[in-house]
Amino acid sequence: MTDLPPLRDVISKYGLAAKKSLGQNFLLDLNLTGRIARAAGNLEHCTVLEIGPGPGGLTRALLDNGAHKVIAVERDSRSIEALKDVQAAYPGRLEVIEGDALKLDLSILPEGPVKIVANLPYNIGTALLIQWLENLERFEGLTLMFQREVGDRLTASPGEKSYGRLSVLAQRLCYVEKMFGVDRNAFVPPPKVWSSIIGFQPRAKPLAQADPKVLEAVTRAGFGQRRKMLRSSLKTLGVDAEALCKAANIDPTDRAEKIDVAGWCALARALEDIS
Ligand code: SAM
Repeated sequence: MTDLPPLRDVISKYGLAAKKSLGQNFLLDLNLTGRIARAAGNLEHCTVLEIGPGPGGLTRALLDNGAHKVIAVERDSRSIEALKDVQAAYPGRLEVIEGDALKLDLSILPEGPVKIVANLPYNIGTALLIQWLENLERFEGLTLMFQREVGDRLTASPGEKSYGRLSVLAQRLCYVEKMFGVDRNAFVPPPKVWSSIIGFQPRAKPLAQADPKVLEAVTRAGFGQRRKMLRSSLKTLGVDAEALCKAANIDPTDRAEKIDVAGWCALARALEDIS
């Protein structure tokens, strides 16, 4: 542990009043940031990519929990100054990149294991996740804060209300687990809803084969009209939806929420075959 000042003092010293446009809801309780860092497992052997360090509460916890190195990407230039104190307290272990995480070139990451741990800006959380899923071979694990509703979608099983496109895309590639919920009042300022810490453990190989872009298109069509039968909702793909379902061995009168990950992958493969 270091003798860095309390995060409230950092926020007032560097004028870090939260900006809604940047999805800023800060965590000031170091017990909670410690719990998030521990949820990511052993960090001693790896580089941690943190998106949006803000005043640095989670960053400190990651370093205190032994992260070999933290690379933190932050868009808000006001935070960059504040993070210089954290860099000084953990010499050589914190690299701060000022920029947009959506445009981050992942090839800048060093060789060796990388974990992503972040309290994500809620407005770009799913867009970032989709990018990382497309480059999953670079990551040993992801431990991410999402709004509870998004977390529920990521972890839902077929038949559940929250089951949807995101469940399929994430669970095909990862074991996805809700680790714990976080009360809205833990944040400054508090968002409207609770949040969840979600853990992603990449599978050794995908649960079923499918071209990711085709799978995205099929699930978008199916869940886009989730109350309709697949023989109707999948027509938006511009194919004979009934024939597509039959080729994939799926009942065309089923609705999207009933189809498991393997079923969606079968539909994606069948779509490639008949297109
Ligand atoms: N990690 C801090 C914490 O837990 O207190 C802050 C988390 S806050 C929910 C999200 C952070 O992401 C903010 O610091 C915000 O400035 C930053 N951010 C927002 N959009 C970003 C982007 N496109 N690229 C990088 N950082 C971004």
